Formats: sequence, C-alpha cells, structure tokens
Amino acid sequence: MDAQQTSRFTVTRNSQAVSADERAILLTDPGFGRLFTDHMVTIRYTEGQGWHSHAVGPREPFQLDPACAVLHYAQEIFEGMKAYRLDDGSIAMFRPEENARRFAASAERLAMPVLPEDMFLEACAEMVKIDADWIPSGEGSLYLRPFMFASEAFLGVRPSNEYIFCVIASPAGAYFKGGKKAVTLWVSEHYTRAARGGTGAAKCGGNYAASLVAQKEAIGHGCDQVVFLDAAENKWVEELGGMNVFFVMDDGSIITPPLSGTILPGITRNSILSLARAQGHEVREELYSFDQWRADSASGRLREAFACGTAAVVTAIGTVRSRGGDFTIGNGDGGLVTETIRAELTGIQRGTVADPAGWVRKL
Ligand SMILES: *Cc1c(COP(=O)(O)O)cnc(C)c1O
Repeated sequence: MDAQQTSRFTVTRNSQAVSADERAILLTDPGFGRLFTDHMVTIRYTEGQGWHSHAVGPREPFQLDPACAVLHYAQEIFEGMKAYRLDDGSIAMFRPEENARRFAASAERLAMPVLPEDMFLEACAEMVKIDADWIPSGEGSLYLRPFMFASEAFLGVRPSNEYIFCVIASPAGAYFKGGKKAVTLWVSEHYTRAARGGTGAAKCGGNYAASLVAQKEAIGHGCDQVVFLDAAENKWVEELGGMNVFFVMDDGSIITPPLSGTILPGITRNSILSLARAQGHEVREELYSFDQWRADSASGRLREAFACGTAAVVTAIGTVRSRGGDFTIGNGDGGLVTETIRAELTGIQRGTVADPAGWVRKL
C-alpha cells in the first residue's frame, strides 16, 4: 500500500530529485556523511499540543530564528543507524528498536519530550521507503540520522517548549578511508569526554562538541581517533569520541569497559557482547586502565583491540600514541578474533549469516 494511506505522514515528493543516472554516478563512491538523499522526514512538537505535522518532504534547509534555543544551549540529541539492501532485494535494518529506545533515554536526559518509540520507527521506515533507490549496492548502506533539537525562539535558560524531530539519510561506503586497516589512537590525558552525572550516556551533540578539541589534538599527532580516559581518575579507558572499545586477551577472553553512566551504550557493543559469548569467549565488562593496556601490549597478554559503532562497525586498533610514547597491539594489524566478530556481525546485518537473536528487521 501507499504511504499516504497507511501512515499519519503527509508525503510530498521532491520535484527536483536527482536523476537516476546522476544518482548512479554518486553512489559509485559515496564516502561517509557527505552525500544526502532527496527527502527528509519531520515531526514537530509543541508544549500543550504534543507531536504534530508529521511530514515526508523534499530535503531542504530549516528556517531558524536567531534566538532558536538549540543555537545557544545545545539542547539536541541524535541517533545513527543503517539500512541495507539484502541479496534478495529486500531492505533490512539492524535492531532499530534499540535506537528508538536509546533516543527516548537521550531525550529524558536532555529534558526533551520523548518521541514514542513506534513513531520513531515509523519515521525511519518512511525515510528509507521514499529514498530506497539511494541504498548503495555491495558493501554500502544507507546511513540514517534521526535527530531532534530545541526550536523555540527564547533565550531564557529552561527546556524549550518547541522541538523539531527530523530524519535525514546519507548513502555510505567505508567509514575510515583505506577500508579495514587498523587505526591509530591518541590517548587524551588532558581532555575528558564525560563525568559522573553528566551526559556521557546520552547521544547528544554537546558531547561531540566537547570532544572535538581532543580529536583535533589526535589528528595533530598523526592519529585517526582519540580515546578518552575517565574524568575522575584519568586512569580507566572509557571509549573513543564516537565508538566503544574492546580488548582481546591471550587466553581468548574479551574485556570492555562497563556502562557506568559515562560511556555511550552502543548497540554494536551490546551485539558484540552476545556474539562473542556465543562464539565461546569469556566476556567481561570491567575497568581496564591505560597503564594496564600499555603493559599488556608489551607483554603480549593483550593480543588484539578494536573499536566498534554503527558507522565503522568493527575496526582494529593498531597503535596507541600518547605523550608518554607509542605502543603497538599484536602485529599492529588487528587479528583473527576481531576479524571473526566483524565478519559475523556484518554477515548478520546483510542477511548472509544466521540471525538467531532476531536482530534484523525487514521493512
Ligand atoms: C553512537 C556512539 C557509539 C556507538 O554506538 P552504536 O549504537 O554502536 O552505533 C559509541 N560511542 C559514542 C560516543 C557514540 O556517540
């Protein structure tokens, strides 16, 4: 059936949509986050009225008042998820209900209204449906970016009375240039990402704003990404700017830092915990210090380390750099455990590997 009849969204097609020929050229090398599809989904919220004006329409700029609250106090949250084209031609998403749930939790932390989870999922489905032709074939996927921001024009400091929820979509190839090769991390010993009681477990733009200076420092030291230590003791490994982290020991056990409120509860992280257990690994959510990381890399007790998240899925960590010097994990090029977990997870996401937990949702 047609979207106009089945949902509460009014659909307006983009009359200036990119032609099929032009799109085919663009999709040969989409990169990450630089190309966007023809449409967007929006829902508005007004205090006293609730959610309204559900719309699928041409992707276009917002008109914002200069006093728009988000521009001043950063009341904003977002999600990141992917839609895949499976071999049988159908379209699938990976655990989207987890994104819906986390979006609701982020909203609560940022004192924003909670978008009902079914409405979040419906908006994402509408986005994928209208721009399904933008899903790259092969290794690629369509990255969805649902987000919500405070849109009231008001400079007083209190939660906004108006919000805009929106979903945009961006065709994606490989996240890190150069494909699967291991990344080099910079350990930020000066800047922290999140403190107890802060917004570390919420997916909000403000966390990223605060992390950029450390990411800039990482790039300045020739590294790909920054890894943060805890704010209280500056000792325990927490996560990267936008990815969770795992350690693979010589006895086959796997360690990842526990969710203590300062780490983003990654859906990839959660999936890997299950997969690794099913593969027979002992998995521990426990604190792991930067000093231990360095010592275990030197002694060989640590065999592999990897970062994970929706965008890059699973990426081996090769070298770790800090003011105190560099160290390399294993042969600096990942390893079998990382590769096996990556292959199983991407196989499940693309429908080529069995999905016993029922994580894949066909649209
Ligand atoms: C989104 C994000 C992750 C990864 O979460 P996934 O659900 O696996 O994509 C990890 N850390 C931070 C800070 C994030 O914003």
